[in-house]
Amino acid sequence: MSNDKRPLAFLHIEDDRIEAELVADLLRQTSFAGVRLVQRTRVGLGIEALQNERFDLVLLDLNLPDGDGIDNLHRVRAVDERVPVVIMTNIEDENTALELVAKGAQDYLVKRELSPALVSRTLRYAMARQAADLRLRESERRFALAVAGARDGIWDWDLDAGRTWYSPRWFDILALDAEAALPIPETWLDRVVDEDRAGLKKALEAHLDGLTPHFEYEFRMIDGYGKPQWVLARGVAVRGADGQATRIAGSLTDITDRKTTEAMLVHEALHDALTGLPNRNLFLDRLDLALRQFKRDRSRKFAVLFLDLDRFKSINDSLGHAAGDALLIEIGRRLGKFVRPGDSVARLGGDEFAILLGDVAGLAEATLVAERLHDLMSQKFIIAGKELYATASIGIALADSKYERSADMLRDADLAMYRTKRRRSGSYAVFDNVMHETALARLELETDLRAAAQRNELAVYYQPIVSLDHMRVVGFEALVRWFHPVRGLLAPDDFIPLAEESGSIGQLTWWVMHEACRQTRAWQLSDPTLAELSISVNVSSRLFSEPDFAARTQAILEDTGLAPAALHLEITENALLEHEAETVRELSALQKLGVKLHLDDFGTGYSSLSYLNLFAYDTLKIDRTFVTGSANGGRDNRIVDALINLGRVLEMNVIAEGVETQEQAQKLRDLNCGMAQGFWFSKPLPSDSAHALLQRELDVARSSIRNLTRH
Ligand code: C2E
Ligand code: MG
Ligand code: MG
Repeated sequence: MSNDKRPLAFLHIEDDRIEAELVADLLRQTSFAGVRLVQRTRVGLGIEALQNERFDLVLLDLNLPDGDGIDNLHRVRAVDERVPVVIMTNIEDENTALELVAKGAQDYLVKRELSPALVSRTLRYAMARQAADLRLRESERRFALAVAGARDGIWDWDLDAGRTWYSPRWFDILALDAEAALPIPETWLDRVVDEDRAGLKKALEAHLDGLTPHFEYEFRMIDGYGKPQWVLARGVAVRGADGQATRIAGSLTDITDRKTTEAMLVHEALHDALTGLPNRNLFLDRLDLALRQFKRDRSRKFAVLFLDLDRFKSINDSLGHAAGDALLIEIGRRLGKFVRPGDSVARLGGDEFAILLGDVAGLAEATLVAERLHDLMSQKFIIAGKELYATASIGIALADSKYERSADMLRDADLAMYRTKRRRSGSYAVFDNVMHETALARLELETDLRAAAQRNELAVYYQPIVSLDHMRVVGFEALVRWFHPVRGLLAPDDFIPLAEESGSIGQLTWWVMHEACRQTRAWQLSDPTLAELSISVNVSSRLFSEPDFAARTQAILEDTGLAPAALHLEITENALLEHEAETVRELSALQKLGVKLHLDDFGTGYSSLSYLNLFAYDTLKIDRTFVTGSANGGRDNRIVDALINLGRVLEMNVIAEGVETQEQAQKLRDLNCGMAQGFWFSKPLPSDSAHALLQRELDVARSSIRNLTRH
C-alpha cells in the first residue's frame, strides 16, 4: 500500500484480552511477525490511535462495549477512509460481518476458526484489495474530472450490447436533455442530418473494419432546438483477440465557430467586401457553369453585360473616397434589385460591374436590358447629402460556343465596353469579331512598341520654331516617328495614345527627351551662333504626376550637358486635370531648375483660361485650328489676336502652330506674334536635314554679313 520503508502497523480493536492475545500470537506465526501491532479495547481508543498514527490495516471486533457492528465501521472510516478493515466476528454474527463487507470492510475472520494461514491470507488480500479499490476509485475520479472539465463531449459505445454512454457535456453541446435521452447509439445517429449520414457511416465502418487507425468525422447533428449544428466526432475502437471491434469510445467537439469562420472566409474569397456582391472569381465560376450548360443545350442562351462607370475617378477625387464608396454600394444595391432570379451581378473591381443575364432570347433582349440599365443609372443618387448622377458604359457579349473559358467571354464584354466608352460614354456596344481583331492588332502594336526603341525603330524629327521678328530658327520641336518594320512610318497619333494606355509612354518619352537633348547640345557646340538653340519636347500629361519626373529630367540634362533653359517641355492643358498636387509639385521643381514650360495646343482642351491660372507657363502655343482660319480675317483671326494679347498680359511668349501659308505668317507678324512653326517654314525633319537647314541659314546669314562689310 505504501512505498515507504516504514514497517507495517496494524491496529487491533478488541475488548476481550484473550482474543487479543490469540490474534497477536497467530500473527507472530505468519509472515506478519514483524508488524507493529497496536491493540485497543474500545472503539473510542482505537479511533484515537488512528488519529495519531497511520495504520496499514484495522482488525475490528464486531461487538465492543462502546459500539458495535456497522456503527464501528463507520467510525473507523470517518477517520481513515483508505485503511483496509477486517471484521473479527463470532460464528453467530457471520451475517452481520458479511453485511459490513458489502458496506466497505475488506473481509472478515470468524474467531475460533483462525489459523495462521487463514489470517495471513485474509489480511494480505484485504490490503491488496483495498489498494486496488483505491486505484480504481482514483482513476474513476480522474475520469469524472476529465469528463466534467472537458470542452468536448465523451461517448462510449458498447458495440456488442448496443448501448452507448454519453457525458453530460455531450448533451450540452447539442442542447439535449440528458434525462430524456436513451443510452443507445440511435440517440446519436438519429440526429445526424441526412446529407452527412452516409459519410459518417462510411468513416465509422472504415475504422471498425480496421482500415483507419482512428475514427474522425465532421458532420452536422440536429440539436435540441431543431437546428443543424457542426460537430467533430473522434474515437478509437477496442478490439477483441480476434481483432473484432467490441467497443468504440471517443469525443464530440463543437466546431460551430470554426465552421462559421470557414464559411466567412469562403464568402470573403468570393465576394466583394464593399458591396457584398460576388467578385470576379465567383462571377467567372457562374459564367463557366452557364457556358457548360449552353454547350450541352444551345437553347439555354445567356449574355454578359460589362458595366463601367463614367468619370468615376472625378467623383472620387472631388467628393472623396467615402462618397465614391457610397456610390458603388448604392449602384450594387440597384443592380441587385434590377436583375431577375436566374441572373447574377458581380463587382469586378474599381468601378466595374458585370451582369450575367441567365435567360435572354437574343441580342435584341440583351440590348433592351442595357437600355433599361442606363435608365436605372440615370436616376439620381443621393450621396452624402448631395445629388449625384452617374452614367455607365456597357459592353455586351452573347453566349457563343466558341468560348472555351468564361474569362474569354468576360474579356469580350469588356472590349465592347471599352469600344463604346472610347466613342461615347454612357452608351452600350455589343461585342463583334471586328472588335476582337482590333484588340489583337492593338495588342500586337503595343508589344512591338515596347521593343521599338531597342530595335532602333524610333527616330526624332525636328520642326524648326522661327522667331517672326528676325525670321530665324530659334529652336526645334522634337516629334517622334516610328519606322514600323511592317506598317512603315507611323505618326505619333498612331501610337502615342496606345503608349499612354499601355504604360509604355514613360519609356518612350525618356528616350525622346534624351535623344533630343543630346542632338541639340551637339548642334549648339557645332557653331557659336547656335549656342542658344532650344529644344521643345512633348510630354504626356500623365507623366508629370510621377514622383521622380523632375529628377529624371535633370539627370538627362546633366548627362547630355544641355543647359536647363534650352529645354522646353510642352504640356497640354489637360495635364493639370488629374493629380493636380503632384503635377504642380513636379512642374515647380522643373521651373526651379530653369527648364521652360510650354502650354501646348492652347484653346483646344478644357476650360482653358482657368488652367492658365493654376500654373505659370513660360510660353503659350496657339493651336493650329485657330491659325488655319486666321488669314481670312473673321472670327479665328480675332481669337488669335486675343490669344497673342493674352500672352502679352500674362508675360508669356507666344508660338503660333500650324502656319502653312505666307499670308498666315504675315498676319501673325502683323499681330506681333513672337514665334511661329509650321509647314510653310519647314516640315518636321530628320536630324541630318535639320542640321543642313541650320547650316544653310548660317551660310545665308554669313554671306549677307559679308555682303554688308563689302559695301
Ligand atoms: P503637337 O505637339 O501639337 O505637334 C505639332 C504637330 O503638328 C506635329 O504633328 C507636326 O507635324 C504638326 N504640324 C506642324 N506644322 C504643321 C502645319 O503647318 N500644318 C499641319 N497640318 N500640321 C503641322 P505630329 O508630329 O504628327 O505630332 C502629333 C502630336 O503627337 C504632337 O502634337 C504631340 O502632341 C504628339 N507627339 C509628337 N511627338 C511626341 C513625343 O515625343 N512625345 C509625346 N508625348 N507626344 C508627342
Ligand atoms: Mg507639341
Ligand atoms: Mg501643338
